[in-house]
Amino acid sequence: MKKIVIMILAAAAFTQVKAQDQPQKPRQHRQRSTWNDGSALSVDSTTRDGYTLVFANNDTTFEKEGVDIKKRMIETFFKVYEEEANTYNKNTAKRVVFFVDRNYKGVAATANMTVHFNPPWMLKKPTDIDVVTHEVMHIVQDYGNGAGPGWLTEGIADYVRAVYGVDNAGAKWFLPEKLRADKDGKMQDYTASYRVTARFLLWIEKNYKKDLVINLNNAMREHTYTDGIWKDQTGKTLDELWTEYAATFPKS
Ligand SMILES: [Zn+2]
Repeated sequence: MKKIVIMILAAAAFTQVKAQDQPQKPRQHRQRSTWNDGSALSVDSTTRDGYTLVFANNDTTFEKEGVDIKKRMIETFFKVYEEEANTYNKNTAKRVVFFVDRNYKGVAATANMTVHFNPPWMLKKPTDIDVVTHEVMHIVQDYGNGAGPGWLTEGIADYVRAVYGVDNAGAKWFLPEKLRADKDGKMQDYTASYRVTARFLLWIEKNYKKDLVINLNNAMREHTYTDGIWKDQTGKTLDELWTEYAATFPKS
């Protein structure tokens, strides 16, 4: 029964990912294999500037056809991880594992300093290299349980993708130019997470508080986040900010 529930959850998560071209929420991920259980076809380790990336793959097709994308994933890691660490958490893990895992069916997910990647996705969408930028931010965040709202965790990861991404345009990954309604006609708000929240954070930084995301990130890391932080930072509540922000979108 539990297995069935997990399978349904996994299927639902995958549908959502496909619809939005976005990584899966890490907490929905269920690990089925590990990179060091002997099933990997290759395990490489690269160290640069004090950071080590272990790259493991257990997918036959990726092993043959993924040489270029693997190289870009590694290059992207060393570019963005240090930048993210310097801004958001200098004590972040020094050793990270990328595991291209034939048993993983989402796009990508991160847990325990390990990012799981879906081999067919990376082969089919090699331009979506900033999946790396988003996922390794979750390692830098290291919020732990109960730190604050999940939509903010994902919103910050996509904010970081928007700011530090190496080729968002190549992936046709853009911040949304309009808000969408759900099937009940309710318009998206900040809880929509990912890019919707990311764009909102950028807007607040531009109009109210320059280092908002750094301060939110610190509060989440220290488990001092409360709803009051928005008013402390900007003079307005979260809902007041959203109402003002939502009014900036063209009506239609
Ligand atoms: Zn994420």
